[in-house]
Amino acid sequence: ALVNVSVVRDSREYPIYFIAQIQDISDRYAIEQMKNEFISIVSHELRTPLTAIHGSLGILESGIYHNNSEKFNHLISIALNNSDRLVRLVNDILDLERLESQKTELVKEACEVTDLIEQAVETVQPLADTAKIHLDWTPLAVSVWAAPDAIVQTLTNLLSNAIKFSPAGSTVSVKAEVIEAKDSNREKVRENTHTSLPYILFSTCDRGRGIPADKLETIFGRFQQVDVQDSRHKGGTGLGLAICKSIVQQHQGQIWVESLWGTGSTFYFTLPVQPPAE
Ligand code: ADP
Repeated sequence: ALVNVSVVRDSREYPIYFIAQIQDISDRYAIEQMKNEFISIVSHELRTPLTAIHGSLGILESGIYHNNSEKFNHLISIALNNSDRLVRLVNDILDLERLESQKTELVKEACEVTDLIEQAVETVQPLADTAKIHLDWTPLAVSVWAAPDAIVQTLTNLLSNAIKFSPAGSTVSVKAEVIEAKDSNREKVRENTHTSLPYILFSTCDRGRGIPADKLETIFGRFQQVDVQDSRHKGGTGLGLAICKSIVQQHQGQIWVESLWGTGSTFYFTLPVQPPAE
C-alpha cells in the first residue's frame, strides 16, 4: 500500500488536521511485474537470433570458407533465417504493444464475413500448398461489425497455426455461423458481453496434434507454447494467439479453443453482428 499524509494548517500555520491517504497499489505492482517479465522474455527472444546472425557473419568474415561453398551458403542461410525471425518478432511485439496500449483504436465497420474469410484463406493458401494441407472454407453472406484488417489477421494466425500443427494430407477448415443470442448454450459465449445481440461464431478446425487440457487457457498468453520447441521449429513467435485474443477482446468478443490431445483442435471466436449500443 502507498501511504500519503498531509497537514492542513490555519492562517497562523497551526496544524488543524491531517489527511491520510492509503492507496492499494497491488494492481499497479502486478502490472509492473508483468511488464518486467515481458521485457526479460523479449530480450531473451531477440538475443537468440541476433547471436546466430552475429556468429555466422563472424565466421564468414574470417574467410575460412570459400565463396559459394556448401558451408558458406549454409552460414548465409542461417543469418537470413534468423533475421527473418527477428523481423517477425519485432512486428508481433509492436502489434501487440499497439493493441494493448490502445494507441491505434481499431476502426470498426460493417464488413462481409465471406470477404474476411476469403482474404485470410488467400493469405495462407501458399503455406497450405507447401504443407500439402487441404483448405476447406464456407462462405457466409452476412455482415459483422469489425475492424476488417484485424479480423483477417486473427483468422490468418489461427489458420497458419492449424496448418503448422497438422499432418500432410489432412484438412483444415474455416467457417462462420450466425448465432441468435437466445439460442446460445455455450458456456464461453454466455460469459460474453454481447450475448443480448446476435453474433457471428467463427471457427477454424484441424485434425492435427491437438492441445493438452492443461494448456487450453494458457496458450493465449504471450510466448506460451505446448512444447518449448514449437516456436523455433515451426517458425512462430509465440505471440500469435496473444494478438488474436487482444483483437477479439477489443470487439467485445470471446476466443477459446476446444481440443483433444492427438485428435485436433477447433479455435472459436465471436464478433457482434451490429455495433454495441452506446
Ligand atoms: P506460435 O507463433 O508459436 O505459433 P501462437 O501464440 O500462435 O504462437 O501459438 C502458441 C502455441 O499454441 C504454439 O506454439 C503451439 O504450441 C500451440 N498451438 C497453437 N495453435 C495450435 C494448433 N492448431 N494445434 C496445436 N497446437 C497449437
